[in-house]
Amino acid sequence: MTAHFPFDNSYARLPDRFFARVAPTPVSAPCLIKLNTALARELNLDPDFLATPEGVEVLSGRQVPDRAEPIALAYAGHQFGNFVPQLGDGRAVLLGEVVDRGGMRRDIQLKGAGPTPFSRQGDGRAALGPVLREYIVSEAMFALGIPTTRSLAAVLTGEDIFRGGPLPGAVLTRVASSHIRVGTFQFFAAQGDIEGVRLLADHVIARHYPEAAQAVKPYHALLEAVVARQAKLVAQWLHVGFIHGVMNTDNCSVAGETIDYGPCAFLDAYDPAKVFSSIDYRGRYAYGNQPQIALWNLSRFAETLLPLLADDETVAVPAAQEILDGFSRVFHGAYGPGLLRKIGLSEFRDGDNALCNDLLTAMAANGADFTLTFRRLGDAVLAPSEPGAVRDLFTDPAAYDAWAARWAERLQADPGAPAERRARMNAVNPAYIPRNHRVEAAIAAAAADDFAPFNELVDVLSRPFDDRSDHARYADPPAVDERVTQTFCGT
Ligand code: AMP
Ligand code: MG
Repeated sequence: MTAHFPFDNSYARLPDRFFARVAPTPVSAPCLIKLNTALARELNLDPDFLATPEGVEVLSGRQVPDRAEPIALAYAGHQFGNFVPQLGDGRAVLLGEVVDRGGMRRDIQLKGAGPTPFSRQGDGRAALGPVLREYIVSEAMFALGIPTTRSLAAVLTGEDIFRGGPLPGAVLTRVASSHIRVGTFQFFAAQGDIEGVRLLADHVIARHYPEAAQAVKPYHALLEAVVARQAKLVAQWLHVGFIHGVMNTDNCSVAGETIDYGPCAFLDAYDPAKVFSSIDYRGRYAYGNQPQIALWNLSRFAETLLPLLADDETVAVPAAQEILDGFSRVFHGAYGPGLLRKIGLSEFRDGDNALCNDLLTAMAANGADFTLTFRRLGDAVLAPSEPGAVRDLFTDPAAYDAWAARWAERLQADPGAPAERRARMNAVNPAYIPRNHRVEAAIAAAAADDFAPFNELVDVLSRPFDDRSDHARYADPPAVDERVTQTFCGT
């Protein structure tokens, strides 16, 4: 078995208080749903082996491979703004780390692998629905070019779990640059364990931000780097209409990957106040609030680092504040140019921000589909002043026409032939996103033992920028009776 998993586990070499050693709890009758063979190869794992019954034993947690050192990580976190001093991996076990083909260290974790010392009242298990949702959406995010944890495999456990009623249990094999969260830092900081914070910071620098080690002030550089990655990440979310849904500090990766897909969703009609999560009563994590919340989370991160920034708090606090103030610059530096590219402009001019914002305002006022509007602008670029399909997406098409006239004029001053511009736009404006109604339909079919819609959806979303005539319907917004208005954690 050794040859199959070349583990090298750096986190397990940290002091004992960082984690609990706990093996996955075996399940009765594991059955492979999906294996991500391309990802397996990237990780130097053998996909043929993983698909064998012996491989599925590992992916379901029935067998712990040689060199794995299964642990559940300790962390804390602010959940909807309230601090919880101990959360931790309550239903996930980190098998270990491998170094991938690009030389990057990657965590291999089984999510839904059974109880751990951090499970509190939970059963440590995951239901099929949330496992498939995470598989679909995380792999879609990857294909969209957005930093994210990945999904290596999904297996059925052969055991029911109870969430109100019985549901099929499943395990997701999740791959991440690391599973270290803002909440991991908070876990030590809240206990006044400055040594713990320092060890964790050194680990994160070595693993994710080696350039910070060379800086005059490595911990300042660490904070600055984490702020920058989160700022860029949230800008990318906004560009594709993604709503994370539970941006608690324990769901905020210091490596800057999208992590912990729960009640996440993509916008259909553009609405900056949109909330899908059934537990987000006050809209804290609404689409348009995400930059502000990311900064709030980073502020909690900065607080944990204060003792490392300077011995004197009156020195450390302004230093941290100055770095946090950089969030806005990095965010807008990513968000603005990204929007510009979405409407086909390659050079910034005065008035362009207003042009972008006015489009968004008109979209919101007219219930225009976010993804389709931008995608169809790529077609409209070939004949900008002609009424095209974009206007049909607006309840009042005249609102689009008024904007499109300004846009057409602006395009004339921007370099590039129409066909080339359209190609550029189609490379940033996806045709296919994981539309909520498609995700729900795939999950519902799977619950009835039909995995074909799930497999097809994963396939379509693996090439989100390619028009595929055989799958054109996947680009369609939901019909009125297909609309999903709420999503659930399902934990
Ligand atoms: P999440 O909603 O996935 O971000 O999880 C929040 C916290 O609840 C984490 O500490 C999880 O490990 C824990 N948790 C969620 N679901 C379960 C479960 N079924 N059993 C045990 N712990 C869980
Ligand atoms: Mg979480």
